[in-house]
Amino acid sequence: MSNQLFTISLVVPVYNEEESIDTFIETIDKELAPLRDQLQIVFVNDGSRDKTREVVEKAIERDNRVSLINLARNFGKEAAMTAGLAHARGDAVIPMDVDLQDPPALVLEFVRLWREEGYDTVYGVRTDRNADTAMKRLTAGGFYRFFNAVSTTTKIPENAGDFRLMDRRVVEAINQLPERNRFMKGLFAWAGFRSIGVPYARPERAAGTTKFNYWKLWNFALDGLFSFSSWPLRVWSYVGAGVAGISFLYMLIIILKVLFVGVDSPGYASLMCVILFLGGVQLLSIGIMGEYIGRMFLEVKQRPVFLIEGVYGQYAQQKAVESKEEDKQA
Ligand code: UDP
Ligand code: MG
Repeated sequence: MSNQLFTISLVVPVYNEEESIDTFIETIDKELAPLRDQLQIVFVNDGSRDKTREVVEKAIERDNRVSLINLARNFGKEAAMTAGLAHARGDAVIPMDVDLQDPPALVLEFVRLWREEGYDTVYGVRTDRNADTAMKRLTAGGFYRFFNAVSTTTKIPENAGDFRLMDRRVVEAINQLPERNRFMKGLFAWAGFRSIGVPYARPERAAGTTKFNYWKLWNFALDGLFSFSSWPLRVWSYVGAGVAGISFLYMLIIILKVLFVGVDSPGYASLMCVILFLGGVQLLSIGIMGEYIGRMFLEVKQRPVFLIEGVYGQYAQQKAVESKEEDKQA
């Protein structure tokens, strides 16, 4: 690795993770020893209700490479990452989970590909998801395939997560995106630049429990899909055309039957089927439109993605120095 000085910010969103933080910092120190003086660790406290904040503040006292962005409440992992990315100053930024499911040792390989081979984005690809349940593997795989089939502009590499190294210019591009609906995996992939994947086996959570249940994941998947594809809207034109075509044929059959065979009155069952089926199809398509209108509503309101209660540690000190210098200049 070249010794030219560069800095790397690890952006670590934390939500009720008091038991994981110290282990995380220790493991980073051990496994990323060659990068020791070039690392900054930016914890984003996403409205934890346990002692997460206190644990990070203690770490700041011990270690001046640690900073804390304290959000005003729980805004979700995507918002927490957005806040971290906006504040991180490193020449490269790496979003990382605090539970050590993103193996720190891999960062050395990320950095090598970034510095020596000139990649702007180096993302981890989970080859072995044995730590996940069979159900999660199946649904996650299905989601990536469906997403990539219906999203024309952005393809997410299958089994890539948020764990990745991004060059400063990629981070700047992401920071400029104005949307409130922040499906980060999609935004990362959207930015493009020169990218490469590095395979790794995803270990189990080191401590604590997962913060995502299936309902949260389902909503997360919908957010991703509806923010990156208008296919669910357009598909109804085709369904409509198909149904209209079939209806027209059926109409011809009925008219011919009346002309040549005469009127027959039974038809309750078929009528009921058609009414119920079409009613269902129409409600479904209105529901899909609702999904988009709801998201437009969210964007139009222009509320910020996150609110910061305070910034502590290195970054807060840097801010103070910057404003003093501005005073001097004035
Ligand atoms: N997280 C967060 N806000 C939330 C939920 C999760 O900041 O509302 C953080 C969490 O503390 C962890 C990371 O996001 O550092 C990944 O969460 P988790 O390990 O629970 O997800 P999983 O690995 O089970 O998908
Ligand atoms: Mg995890």
